[in-house]
Amino acid sequence: MNEIVDDKLCTFAIRPTLRCFERVGTDQPSPCGQPAAWHRPGRLWFESGFYCAEHRQPDDVPAAGLLPVRRVHVTLDVYLAATSCQAPQAQAEAVARLEAAVKAVGGCLEVSRVISTFGKYQAQPAPGARPGDVGIVE
Ligand SMILES: [Zn+2]
Repeated sequence: MNEIVDDKLCTFAIRPTLRCFERVGTDQPSPCGQPAAWHRPGRLWFESGFYCAEHRQPDDVPAAGLLPVRRVHVTLDVYLAATSCQAPQAQAEAVARLEAAVKAVGGCLEVSRVISTFGKYQAQPAPGARPGDVGIVE
């Protein structure tokens, strides 16, 4: 049985994978965060939550239908060194890497703008490089 969902809540079009609420770890517990397919409706002072197959309880119900979910939306700028000097290839590779990284934590990446800039970069010598090696300026 689903919880009653307030009519004032919007229905998300962008729906990242539900993630497990279970706290894991002993020193500084943090949420499990794995994909969650089970719902534990809130009762009394316990809040509603979602759980993965490993952390579900026998009374949990399948997470299906319209459910109240808090979705986090982070707006940020990410800078990556390009893997190509050509803008289209560099930008496509960077977006693909970010999509994979965000997907790995259960998120959806919505790209609103991608730009790249060609400029000078003050690089640090590789570990073990010595003054006098080709390309090292003292
Ligand atoms: Zn879990």
